[in-house]
Amino acid sequence: MAPQDLKIAILGAGMGGLTSALALAERGFKHIDVYETASDLGFVGAGIQLAPNMARVLDHLGVWKGIEAEAVNIEETSVRVGAEDSELAHVDLKYIESIYGYKHMVGHRHSLANGLYQGCLKHSDKITFHFSKGVSEILSFGPRPTFTVTPRDTNKKPYNSTVDVLLGADGIKSLTRVAMLEDLNISSAVKDTHQAAYRIMIQKDQVKDDDPELIALINSNKVVRWIGEKRHIIAYPVSNNKIYNLSTTQPDGNFAAATNATYTTKGSKSAMLDVFKDFCPLVQRMLNYVPEGEVCEWKLRVHEPLPTWVSQSTALVGDACHPTLPHLAQGAAQAIEDGAVLAVVLSKLPATDAESIHKALKAYEKVRKERAYALVEMAAASGRALHLGDGAAKEERDKQFAALRQGKGPVPDKWADADVQREIYGLDCVREAEEKFEEYFASARVAKLA
Ligand SMILES: Cc1cc2nc3c(=O)[nH]c(=O)nc-3n(C[C@H](O)[C@H](O)[C@H](O)COP(=O)(O)OP(=O)(O)OC[C@H]3O[C@@H](n4cnc5c(N)ncnc54)[C@H](O)[C@@H]3O)c2cc1C
Repeated sequence: MAPQDLKIAILGAGMGGLTSALALAERGFKHIDVYETASDLGFVGAGIQLAPNMARVLDHLGVWKGIEAEAVNIEETSVRVGAEDSELAHVDLKYIESIYGYKHMVGHRHSLANGLYQGCLKHSDKITFHFSKGVSEILSFGPRPTFTVTPRDTNKKPYNSTVDVLLGADGIKSLTRVAMLEDLNISSAVKDTHQAAYRIMIQKDQVKDDDPELIALINSNKVVRWIGEKRHIIAYPVSNNKIYNLSTTQPDGNFAAATNATYTTKGSKSAMLDVFKDFCPLVQRMLNYVPEGEVCEWKLRVHEPLPTWVSQSTALVGDACHPTLPHLAQGAAQAIEDGAVLAVVLSKLPATDAESIHKALKAYEKVRKERAYALVEMAAASGRALHLGDGAAKEERDKQFAALRQGKGPVPDKWADADVQREIYGLDCVREAEEKFEEYFASARVAKLA
């Protein structure tokens, strides 16, 4: 049997699941089934950064042009003191395209998900979507993984499915991850970051003409961060400058009493305004645009790094294995890199027995794990630097910001640091997987196959 004849199931139609499906279909895989608990992709209302490393993968997959057309090109970033709106640092980002081949764009999450989905629909002979069907149990991780599919329609009965390869792209609360670790007798704790986020979208036509400052931001090609002790706000325009997107980070005090089953809670507008009450009038005006009753707060969670992402013929993808704080804006980008690399390693399989599949999945892990966890750590470090309160560390950070105004030194906001960008944007994960596959496949150890 050719690798392309393998039966592959993907749990979750998020960024990692959709990219895996599309990348596999592009490499000729013919039997791809995607199971998604939700009834459709939804219109998830938030902005997302489309960094050059993400754009490169999407372009290889033929879907970047459409996504790019609805996005906004970011040419500069400004880091500001939240209370005073004074500028700590300004970084020109126009150079990004000339170095990495892609602009640094920002877009609407729906636009990204829909672009990937439309790409998948062009392969409808190869990819079958099963919306409103969640996977409720993993019965076996291999040699042929078996799982139970439970339709949301309670009139329909759960059924079992058996495949050659199972990809758990089921997000931060991944059932696949929990079941896999339990099966391997590995304990890996959920790490409480004590941080939470409000995500806000202001429609341009909501904004009164008497607020030229906000209108200018919506029309701009700029990412702005307003920072303060233990809190910050990042904001940028999306959807061809028709919407202004704000994402906040603050201590997660409001989750103390919540069960956190969904990691989100309906927030109160007055509590949100209170968190940023000492920020400047512009921030106050922006937060006030959120309609009463529509404040949603996310608890930001991560996990301890996992010793493995693979068990037998099953692999984890995206937030299921490397959830991250959002401060580097790389969570979805890394899930998308995972999907692209999985398609490379599976397409290069020299044989399709369970041992070879396991070794190919270990090669995927080898290409991806170190990089993904390095970025998780860097995002956490960047958050720590941005959220410093008064003291020596903050003074040192602000000296770095000041030096930057003279054009020297590192940027404490790692996202805007040219050396960090080189590490993140400069790597072509598909090329690396192509080049390293044979070496990694040959050195992969086979564990627990029966
Ligand atoms: C505030 C914030 C801002 C962010 N900003 C950025 C950014 O600017 N850039 C960026 O790259 N990333 C960003 N991220 C991170 C990004 O959103 C995630 O890393 C990314 O969505 C992960 O993709 P995924 O496919 O792994 O998981 P998800 O997108 O969460 O998809 C998982 C899917 O699996 C489905 N599912 C779950 N369980 C099951 C089951 N049992 N059976 C079937 N289906 C199931 C879910 O319904 C869901 O559709 C941000 C995150 C936050 C919280």
